[in-house]
Amino acid sequence: MGILIRNALVLTQNERREVLKDCDVLIEANRIAKVGKGMREKAEHVLDGRGKLVMPGLVNTHTHLAMTLLRGYADDMRLEDWLEKKIWPREAKLKPADVRAGSMLGCLEMIRGGTTSFVDMYFMMGETAAAVEKCGLRANLAHGMIDMDKPERRKKELAAGEAFVREWNGKVRGRIMASFGPHAIYTCSRELLEKTNELAHKHDVKIHIHLSESRKEVVDCLAKHSKRPADYLESFGFLSKRVIAAHCVWLRREECALLGKRGVSASHVPASNMKLAGGGAMPIPELEQAKANICLGTDGAASNNSLSMFGAMKLCALLHKNSRWDATVAPAQQVLDFATRNGARAMGAEAGAIAEGRLADLIMLDLRSPNLVPMHSAVSNVVYAASAGNVTDVIVDGKILMRERKVVAFDEEKVMEAGEKAAFDLVSR
Ligand SMILES: [Zn+2]
Repeated sequence: MGILIRNALVLTQNERREVLKDCDVLIEANRIAKVGKGMREKAEHVLDGRGKLVMPGLVNTHTHLAMTLLRGYADDMRLEDWLEKKIWPREAKLKPADVRAGSMLGCLEMIRGGTTSFVDMYFMMGETAAAVEKCGLRANLAHGMIDMDKPERRKKELAAGEAFVREWNGKVRGRIMASFGPHAIYTCSRELLEKTNELAHKHDVKIHIHLSESRKEVVDCLAKHSKRPADYLESFGFLSKRVIAAHCVWLRREECALLGKRGVSASHVPASNMKLAGGGAMPIPELEQAKANICLGTDGAASNNSLSMFGAMKLCALLHKNSRWDATVAPAQQVLDFATRNGARAMGAEAGAIAEGRLADLIMLDLRSPNLVPMHSAVSNVVYAASAGNVTDVIVDGKILMRERKVVAFDEEKVMEAGEKAAFDLVSR
């Protein structure tokens, strides 16, 4: 039983951030059992790690997977036009089978891109959960709730959110986690947010929300509640370790301190923010100083337009240097931590490092790739130079999902065909 990877270069992301040469990794059941040299243990699968880099799988902490169907459907538009004229009308016509097809396509893209787990909020999430069950990834999923201050709608959304948590949390031996997904402060009433908080405590699950994405959100919140968004959430005890707050762009220093104090995970989505011209950049130094848990995500493929976490890491490292006029901001090691250790912590999975006892979610990269030669620093190459095309093997929860660039968990061609068909159907409805 188990998997033994022999003689690899291992980028551990452990407490000491060790990079180990000619190192073996032993996986038993769904955990990493041992990391070291010259192991004598036997295993069902022995993988030759020579010429390969082994590292923790990447964790995408903010996406809407089924939006892969709308990849490239509407680009280069103002946020309001993009949403109101293009995205919302199509989303209103989504059927469960579309969400399934889009989710499978997204899972495939993530596997090929070295992402082993993700955090998602959308509609018809039972379909996404079924896709995750089938494809083998790890996920924390939420039914996205919007009530627009309407009590009837609130009741329905909360019931749907709780039903989803009851049905899916802890399923597939814990590979699927469920959380609550109030969309944002401008689409959800205070009553809905308060009730969500109660329910999240009751079920002991996470809360996934969009926060301070645009300047308009802040201006509107000030007008309506006389408070900035993070302060508004704090005023009724919403902020806690349970919260994964996506975007966190328009925050003041005091709000950063508050997010840090409450142990909030701030999911940074640089590609989406830049594509939709949000005009700001997450205040990483201030959030870091406040000890908020900064992690990384892609957002949906309609506003990115890929689910590449290699892309997210590079953009993150570059954006902050440029916006602060300071090349020392967002160094490679810090960014890699966002995409691995911090992401795993945000979603509540004991993954994100190659270390004894951690969940066996890891990937292998082909070091004999021109863009990875020479390797003065493994961390630098992974953050600044690597891409999805370098990923050869993907293991999640101790199971091989991709081996030598071949996806073994399902028929890749069929997934692409179904995704393409669903996408063209959707835009012609
Ligand atoms: Zn989003």
